[in-house]
Amino acid sequence: MLRLLGDRFYNKRMLSTPTYLLRLSQGQLNLLERCPRQFQHTYLEQLTSPANPEHEDKQTLGSRFHLLMQQQEMGLPINSFLQADTQLKSWMSAFANAAPEIVTPITDNQTFRESEHYRTLQVQDYLLTVIYDLLIADNQQAQILDWKTYPKPPDKRNLAQNWQTLLYLYVLVETSEYLPENISMTYWFVQSEGRPKNIKFTYTNKQHQQTAKKLNQLLNNLTNWLALYQQGQQFPQVIEGSKACNYCQFATRCQRIQATEEGRVDLLPNIDTIQEVSL
Ligand code: SF4
Repeated sequence: MLRLLGDRFYNKRMLSTPTYLLRLSQGQLNLLERCPRQFQHTYLEQLTSPANPEHEDKQTLGSRFHLLMQQQEMGLPINSFLQADTQLKSWMSAFANAAPEIVTPITDNQTFRESEHYRTLQVQDYLLTVIYDLLIADNQQAQILDWKTYPKPPDKRNLAQNWQTLLYLYVLVETSEYLPENISMTYWFVQSEGRPKNIKFTYTNKQHQQTAKKLNQLLNNLTNWLALYQQGQQFPQVIEGSKACNYCQFATRCQRIQATEEGRVDLLPNIDTIQEVSL
């Protein structure tokens, strides 16, 4: 019997959920860790800057690839979409060659597969949410898969510390019967230098305990900062001279503007690592 059965699978902690919980995703945890003040402006005050058209185009293309993978997983026809978009067609065909076991799997009723698999876990007064691009599980192991459409894979050590990796693995162990050693997370970079590449993370009980500690510390900090914010105190900023300010849309507000050699202010994030929009 599978240790993970979709809707029949539940998290006991959810049964005692209080009426009000602050929902947090991996992106919000990353932001909170990078700069608490940026988290305050972005999520508490919902301040945004005008959208950059080039970023938007990349995000849209990334989202369409995710949608296509979801439709394919659900057995829906995708040919008309591929014919209409050469970029998607080339990504899809390169990915199908690189990972046929994922794109065209041999069906087997002992294996659970679900795209856009959604899971939640309550920790303290927060509801942590994850959406796995694809989850494949059987009675031995579970694999989390994630698609990335930006061109350059990040450094593996950095990716290991990203909250997407930490939280996705953590939540699966906390909401299933799988041992840490029986789960993994694999990122697929579908257009990495023209050829799909993957980065895989295995997991251990020690890493799970480390993530639990790190997560609880970050959430304890958030609880304190929220209490102070309600009394009129702003969230902490990163130290002056931090690289994070160079790419931050709130640099003017924080008086952290850094001019480039050309004398202009460069506030744009690295376009090669921009996140796709979640479906
Ligand atoms: S400018 Fe710097 S201190 Fe201000 S929100 Fe951005 S990263 Fe934080």
